[in-house]
Amino acid sequence: MDFQQTHRFPAEQPVAAAKLSGAYKHNRIGHAYLFDGEKGVGKKDAALYFAQLLLCEHPSDNVPCETCHACRRVLSGNHPNILTVEPDGQDIKKDQMARLLEAMTKKAYEQGRRIYIIEQAHRLNTAAANALLKFLEEPDGDVTAILLTDAYHMILPTIQSRCQRLSFLPPRREQVVERLKAEGISPSLAATVTCLTADAARAAELASEEQFVTLRKTVVKLVQAIDQHVTEALMLIQTEWGPFLKEKEDAEMGLDLLLYMYRDIVAKKAGMTALPAYPDLEEFTSALAMKMTYDQLASNLESILQAKKQLHRNMHRTLLLEQLVLSMQEGLSVV
Ligand SMILES: [Zn+2]
Repeated sequence: MDFQQTHRFPAEQPVAAAKLSGAYKHNRIGHAYLFDGEKGVGKKDAALYFAQLLLCEHPSDNVPCETCHACRRVLSGNHPNILTVEPDGQDIKKDQMARLLEAMTKKAYEQGRRIYIIEQAHRLNTAAANALLKFLEEPDGDVTAILLTDAYHMILPTIQSRCQRLSFLPPRREQVVERLKAEGISPSLAATVTCLTADAARAAELASEEQFVTLRKTVVKLVQAIDQHVTEALMLIQTEWGPFLKEKEDAEMGLDLLLYMYRDIVAKKAGMTALPAYPDLEEFTSALAMKMTYDQLASNLESILQAKKQLHRNMHRTLLLEQLVLSMQEGLSVV
């Protein structure tokens, strides 16, 4: 990874940036921070940028100079005062934490503040979390912890209460779409995957999966069939939907994609201009928006949400989808 390019405070996080630069300016550096926010919002970049600022020899206006010895070493990932830990397999283990904390308490070979970054801090195992907690209870003025998480609620309350929480905003969908298009992903796929995730890397991965592209087509076919012949829709579930009903995750994604399709239709009907999930199907969604009433659309959305709930109650998935199609068809015939 090229730190020189990626290692910048994320521009989409002005609130977090203002809080950290305020703390720096007033020389009130906390001894523990907890950055929380979805994957891909730049928590690690922000942590490294802040660490660089804390170590920079010639900062100006709360910005690291980028050229001093300390800055260059942070940028190349080789500054001995910054240590990072991430899960080894499923979790962060006690010996990982012990090694990290020992390094933090030793007299540093380098002057200045020491910073440790804990990635996916919600995956600290109990013993590791207790070791960290003990360390946080006896803060050393020259040590700063930065915990990163996308699951704040899974962090022990005793750890939460000892950290300053900085919440990172989810990226705007339009920004992620533009980023994906710049990577060569088609505008229609980019629009769909960004409904499923705000994480640009995960979105790009999904868009490149053949299975996802097929699932998207299968969802479109089903909506067309529901509009025309219920028997055809039922047949589709037996045939083309089959492979996607084996795994709960795939079935759920299918239901989500179905939900976005009807959401597009509702938005069309209401004259909303937000970017649809299926921009390539505007003609089709417009036609259905003309044809269907708000009541029918609301009932379809409700049926899909119900199906999602039943999916988690482990209902037989083929049966579940058949019932869904029948209830949606029913909604259509009651005019
Ligand atoms: Zn510098």
